[in-house]
Amino acid sequence: MASGDEGVLTLSIGMRVSPEPAGIELLRRYNVALNYAINKILSLNLKTIRDVHRELYRELREWFGLPSRIALDCYRDALANAKAWRNNPHRGRRPKVKKLSMLLHQGSGYRVEDGYVEIIGGIRLKIIGWDRRYDQYENREARLVYREGRMILWISKRILRPKQYKPRDVIAIDINERKIVYGDDEINKDIDTAIDRAYKWKVLAESLQRRYSSSRYPAWKRRREVLNRIRSYHRKARNVLEDWARKSPPKIARLAVKLQHALAREDLTGLINSLRKIKNKDHRTKLIIMGYARLVKWIDWHAMKLGAPLAIVDPRGTSSECPKCDSKLEETGYRRLRCPRCGFEADRDVIGKLNIRKRALKKLRINPPGGVLAPLTAPQMTDVNPNRWGEPMNRPQRGGGTLAL
Ligand SMILES: [Zn+2]
Repeated sequence: MASGDEGVLTLSIGMRVSPEPAGIELLRRYNVALNYAINKILSLNLKTIRDVHRELYRELREWFGLPSRIALDCYRDALANAKAWRNNPHRGRRPKVKKLSMLLHQGSGYRVEDGYVEIIGGIRLKIIGWDRRYDQYENREARLVYREGRMILWISKRILRPKQYKPRDVIAIDINERKIVYGDDEINKDIDTAIDRAYKWKVLAESLQRRYSSSRYPAWKRRREVLNRIRSYHRKARNVLEDWARKSPPKIARLAVKLQHALAREDLTGLINSLRKIKNKDHRTKLIIMGYARLVKWIDWHAMKLGAPLAIVDPRGTSSECPKCDSKLEETGYRRLRCPRCGFEADRDVIGKLNIRKRALKKLRINPPGGVLAPLTAPQMTDVNPNRWGEPMNRPQRGGGTLAL
């Protein structure tokens, strides 16, 4: 995760540490204390940090045995949670934090030394691995998180934002459900999306859920191991998609930097919002919303981090207008379009890419040496797998499948 600021970037570096029982125990104790504090803040309707301190500090120290510094962070965390809940117009029951996560301050809360992370209270966690590229930057506050058997200390760092270079051309990124197509007017590369791969896990989860449901009661809810299996499938779907959204943008951004090109993508806000408005969203729609939102976030972040200028362009008509003469294209075959006026013909994905590039060149006022559309020397075609676009998915048969429990 990362966010930008004037001239400075804040990023979190994940440091994987050994999940020592003492560390897990502290996180659990913190979590119980946090939920206790949220409840008390809401019951007594506490508003200011001073009131919260007066009501909670001693209890957190004495009843929950939290070290002083952690107790302070714990009630701050609780107040933030309580405030968010109070301000939420659609709030339901009181919030309960499930995630095992704890804020730690560098120095007073944690220290990194000789291959170990030392946590307040004398807990030592062995460092298993981390991203060494940011070692020269100072460690700031961190968050210790324990999830699915893994313990990670997310350390926040501040780095100087690099100066943007002057771009010669644009690497345009066209995103669709099937693939990410990127390049300039000659380069044409693509990366498959993970929507299908993630969706397969969702389908497995659904079929399992259906198999253990009857008209009278949802039996799958009662069987712990089935429920766990279903949850693990949902989690896998999410992980597959997150991994893809995180790992694809650096490849694209590195190409742009190598060529000293800017990066361009469509503004997907409208699309994402309209998908969000759909009632009774199916799993696939949910995956698309999540996938797109994460992907564009990481594209923007890598552009910023590497100093690549970024253009976000209007998506309207990018896949139906002729990139040469702006006429409306006509379909000539499977995902293939042709311009009735100038004869230009290409794949839909490629057309999207060329139009995004064209709009970005205009927006960034770049005049590439060969003009906006150089003679199309490279074959403007991407591989097409007809079974992966538009056609209905092969869903597992009802109640069928080969799920062994
Ligand atoms: Zn044309």
